[in-house]
Amino acid sequence: RDVINRMAAGEVLARPGNAIKELVENSLDAGATEIMVHVQNCGLKMLQVCDNGKGINREDFELVCERFATSKLATFEDLQHMRTYGFRGEALASLSHVARVNIVSRQIEQSCAYQADFLDGKMLATSKPAAGKTGTCITAHDLFHNLPQRKNKILSHSEESRFIFEILMKFAVHRPDVSFALRQNHSTDFRTKGDGNFQNVVNLLVGNDVANNLIGLNLDSQRLKFQFSGCMAMPISAATAKMSQARKIRQNFFSVFVNGRSVRCDILKQPMDEVLAPKNLICQFCAVDLKIDETRVDVNVHPTKDSVLFLEKEEIVEEIKEYLQRIVDDYFK
Ligand code: ADP
Ligand code: MG
Repeated sequence: RDVINRMAAGEVLARPGNAIKELVENSLDAGATEIMVHVQNCGLKMLQVCDNGKGINREDFELVCERFATSKLATFEDLQHMRTYGFRGEALASLSHVARVNIVSRQIEQSCAYQADFLDGKMLATSKPAAGKTGTCITAHDLFHNLPQRKNKILSHSEESRFIFEILMKFAVHRPDVSFALRQNHSTDFRTKGDGNFQNVVNLLVGNDVANNLIGLNLDSQRLKFQFSGCMAMPISAATAKMSQARKIRQNFFSVFVNGRSVRCDILKQPMDEVLAPKNLICQFCAVDLKIDETRVDVNVHPTKDSVLFLEKEEIVEEIKEYLQRIVDDYFK
């Protein structure tokens, strides 16, 4: 039974970055305006996410690491109308099956924080009073200590660090109204202000040659029932891109959120490439937000929830492509 749980957990949390993403989404669900992430040894030794969100009630401590325990899903129909990130109550349970988890949390009306340790879906002892401000701090030690093959699969620590950086960067760009800080080992990668200024976030994370040349995107499709909005960097020639000062961009930065969730999908990259490639242009930065009728998208296709299926993908890609074509043609008239 424990082995099954552990293997299932290894699917949801295939790498440290997946765990960080889940924890950050929980923090956002809890209404946090400040989220601090700290990792040691790319999250394998330690990963921690602290927030100033609404906190977890002491009574609920026992439940949070139980499989399918979620405070966010009341009925099955709710699955159709997901507004928050989490809805399956699997992340914390999974984490506790592959790491040693500690939770410190305080709700505003409580006089102190409480903390407890978790292992294999269970709280190890009754929660104890602890020091702490309103909010939640979740720490996982020795990730994959009981899944040595999984641990060994993480070959390159620098690649894993980059993956974690990218995840946090996507959240920071998506939510300039929330302050994100990322510390890896002993140095701070970045800290955004959380004052809502999008351009400042891009400036900090990507550089001012991109931040000063942003083009706003906005497309409303009545027919396909989606809204596409965001920002892209002004496209530049492939040659210029090579010499670009934007050294902080390790690759080109592309971020897509679908109904509030960061996903991997080609509805942006594909039309962008098709529009830019014939002109030998490159776009170094693009961050978009796609809001689409919940009945036209399926987000439950993979345990990590980072892929989506669209009912009318071809049509969506086509509309986005036509739109981008107009933008680029206008720009280079
Ligand atoms: P889900 O997000 O799908 O509900 P999780 O396993 O990610 O499931 O979290 C389980 C529950 O723990 C959440 O429903 C929420 O009630 C609580 N929780 C987790 N993280 C936080 C947090 N940072 N702040 C407040 N509550 C949290
Ligand atoms: Mg969650």
